Amino acid sequence: MLSPAMGSETSPKERVLVVEDEPDISSSLEYAFRASGYEVQVADRGELALAALETFHPDLVLLDLMLPDMSGMEICRRVRKSPSSDQPAVIILSARAQEVDRVVGFEIGADDYVVKPFSVRELMLRVEARLRTRRAVIDALIAEAAASAADGVEALGLRNLRVDESAHRVFVDDKEIHVSALEMRLLLYLLRSPGRMRTRRELLTEVWGYHPEVASRTVDTHIKRLRDKLDTAADLLQTVRGVGFRLAEPNGPQDPSDDQGSTSLAASGNQRQKNHRDAKAR
Ligand code: CA
Repeated sequence: MLSPAMGSETSPKERVLVVEDEPDISSSLEYAFRASGYEVQVADRGELALAALETFHPDLVLLDLMLPDMSGMEICRRVRKSPSSDQPAVIILSARAQEVDRVVGFEIGADDYVVKPFSVRELMLRVEARLRTRRAVIDALIAEAAASAADGVEALGLRNLRVDESAHRVFVDDKEIHVSALEMRLLLYLLRSPGRMRTRRELLTEVWGYHPEVASRTVDTHIKRLRDKLDTAADLLQTVRGVGFRLAEPNGPQDPSDDQGSTSLAASGNQRQKNHRDAKAR
């Protein structure tokens, strides 16, 4: 659940979890980040990193890929699978500079990728940029939730998808699914104008806040993850090949590739929503 305590004004120190098994690197990072006013914890094994995610609640994770007991990729995957809406930002630190690693890193939900050896100063700037983006997303979400609560807007819905903005909850077929703050922003943005196509650039500007260092691949990665979570409502989130994305129109045609089957599914979804509304009204 999001709370105003997560906003930038009230959070005293941001927490950085350093997951790194090379003591020289981890101690210099620990020193540098502490000196810059961050709260820092170091984990030199994957197992300890997973424990620290639960107890330390980092805002950002610096993640080495080659750990003695586990791959950093696996840790990143677990971070992104967590139901928490305020998932940490993840920056991968890797000695491997091949493009394939970068691609896999972004696909599993890393926000940035830094190749060793790196300058601590440059890493610090990247960390600041990532944390700024994360704060902006969370602050915007809190402000929108407050505004929708003030307007008395209870929920936005489309077919079997329902989003309760003020409570930050998403339901598919009346079953709750857990989305991150960024996925929530993305969903709300598309949901406010169903049927309207949004380009990657628009999404980067409106959802992420414009940050040139955010690769447009990030948009595709988040859309894919969100689509996986949407389960039976996944087909509502449509790709306009080579251009961008949109949510299906409420009563318009479904994805052009869809057959009759999904049209009747849409109808039953609307009926379900109606039933739900009726049930609420009683
Ligand atoms: Ca290592």
